[in-house]
Amino acid sequence: MRIHHLNCTTLCPPGGRLADGRKGFKGPAALTCHCLLVEGPRGLILVDTGFGLEDVKHPRPRLAPMFLDVLTRPRLNEGSTAIRQIERMGFRAEDVRDIVLTHLDFDHAGGLDDFPHARVHLLSDEYQSAFAQATPLDRRRYRPLQWMNETQWVTYPSGGDGGRWFGFECVRDLTGLPPEILLVPLPGHTLGHAGVAIQDGSGWLLHAGDAYFYHGEMAPDRYRCTPVLRAYQKLMQKDGYLRWHNMRRLRELVQRHGRDVTVFCAHDSLEFELLEERERSPDLDSPLRHFVDAQPPLHV
Ligand SMILES: [Zn+2]
Repeated sequence: MRIHHLNCTTLCPPGGRLADGRKGFKGPAALTCHCLLVEGPRGLILVDTGFGLEDVKHPRPRLAPMFLDVLTRPRLNEGSTAIRQIERMGFRAEDVRDIVLTHLDFDHAGGLDDFPHARVHLLSDEYQSAFAQATPLDRRRYRPLQWMNETQWVTYPSGGDGGRWFGFECVRDLTGLPPEILLVPLPGHTLGHAGVAIQDGSGWLLHAGDAYFYHGEMAPDRYRCTPVLRAYQKLMQKDGYLRWHNMRRLRELVQRHGRDVTVFCAHDSLEFELLEERERSPDLDSPLRHFVDAQPPLHV
């Protein structure tokens, strides 16, 4: 299966390099909304959607002012939406038959409306949290205007009798999807948060969503994160213990199986650039193993 890396809108939070950790980078911080487009045997599969056309046209009231104006400041534009990027590749909206979501936060689910023919796969805990709208923060992060028209939900329990994948519990046999795509529960950031594992010819990719935010958090020697992203993750976590527990498990996965599994998150721009480069030059040898050692991030 061919896999494409898409940045479906850049986030520009305040803090410059105190947020994105890019040394020598002037101006606002730049974080990606890293999505995947998979050319599957029965149609296209999108992993997360980033922001969509309706977010660009009607950012208010679709997005909460606290995220739109202060904390994430997305650089909304039509050309960055998944639908327009997919069209530029020569496909049509109806070619996308399935969307697999890491979670339902506003910066991952805004494009659902643009793919009315797609089924939407996610963990049932996430579906229930988003619909419950239980806290003021939930009402700002989960935006019903982005998904109230969605009818083709396919939900999966987090626990139970799923399979195992590199020591993680996982959901195998996603309805109608190839067996090379798995949902890997990684709760913490949200209660139904999951990674999405995909096997291609050269190994496994794990899209870890918002289980971590900064590549230094996966560094082999010691944990590193920028102060802004530390604070943001703490603010957004639904369960701090589970978030740290799963981050430690991901670090172990990188250390033990980094040759077999390429782990990346949704918002780290350096990871995105390296994986996009690998997409263009597939012979490059697992760049994420190298950058962890080669690029000392901002020490905090
Ligand atoms: Zn996010």
